[in-house]
Amino acid sequence: MNNNEQLASQIPFPWQSAHWNRLDRLRFNNQLAHAYLIAGSAGLGLPLFAEKFAHLLLCPHPAEGRACGKCKECVLNSKALHPDLYRVRPQGTSRVVKVEQIREASEFLSMTSHAGGPKVVIIEKSHQMNLSAANAMLKTLEEPNPESYLFLVTDSASSMMPTIRSRCQRLQFEVPRFDDSLEWLKKQLLDEEDEVKLLVAADNQPLKALELASSDAYQVQQSFIADVCNLSAGQSSIRQLVTKAAKLDEQVAIGYMLNVTIQLIKSAIKGSTGAGPESPSISRLVHALGQTESSSKVLAERLLSFYQSALEGRQQLASSTNPNPQLIMESLLQQWVQLPFGLKA
Ligand SMILES: [Zn+2]
Repeated sequence: MNNNEQLASQIPFPWQSAHWNRLDRLRFNNQLAHAYLIAGSAGLGLPLFAEKFAHLLLCPHPAEGRACGKCKECVLNSKALHPDLYRVRPQGTSRVVKVEQIREASEFLSMTSHAGGPKVVIIEKSHQMNLSAANAMLKTLEEPNPESYLFLVTDSASSMMPTIRSRCQRLQFEVPRFDDSLEWLKKQLLDEEDEVKLLVAADNQPLKALELASSDAYQVQQSFIADVCNLSAGQSSIRQLVTKAAKLDEQVAIGYMLNVTIQLIKSAIKGSTGAGPESPSISRLVHALGQTESSSKVLAERLLSFYQSALEGRQQLASSTNPNPQLIMESLLQQWVQLPFGLKA
């Protein structure tokens, strides 16, 4: 088994089991809804969940809530070749799911099933449907085909059209408890890694932590965070950071800033002095926060208000069809330097 197969064999992951079991019971009793909104943070493996559940639906001989893994349908699925499963996601460098993609998916659902069983469409990043795609989706949701299932996966359900959300049954996935994520992560990582640091950097999302461990993403993230922290001390400029963020992808960069901010909020509330699991750059800010005149309540409020702006910025990038990423980034960084760290260069 290679790493991907090893990971796939674990689906549903522990934090997905409850939703899986509930959905499986509905499947068993023939009570599944036509459309599900599979919502939760990006690092929880939700597209994998949808994919694996689709395999279960397409397998004619499931056992104990899992696809058999041996039949013709399962073999086709293991090669991502099953003709009754259709996947939609933003293509190439595009941020948006386009109307043609949704029309093709609807057409697929209206055709006869190849295997004589159900048909499944999975839409990843479904909050990134542009307006005409979302309207086409609405039509598909209003006129369901028999034995067809739609899984709309999103890590930003709040930026979706309310009419789409209301026509789907919602499965909301929560981030697991820190200790549970840690236990899982330790089993995945064979090398000596600092799992606590990885998990903190991954906002406690287990698959995101795994990704950080297996690529240079952790270093890239830490270097960007160091620059953001240096900005507060006047050791880097907004312009430099805007350029760096563009190279990274602004949505990713804002995710890093959210991560820093949440760590700072926690330490402001706890009155920490900077000896936690943070990176050295963040520890420096935590220490600086402890030195300011403002009360921890005021600090936490100002950080929360920045957090809110960063969330809005990220949402704008995800949902707007024509965002201006540089402008959004610049305005966020300007707000960042206003935060009361009081660092001296
Ligand atoms: Zn099977």
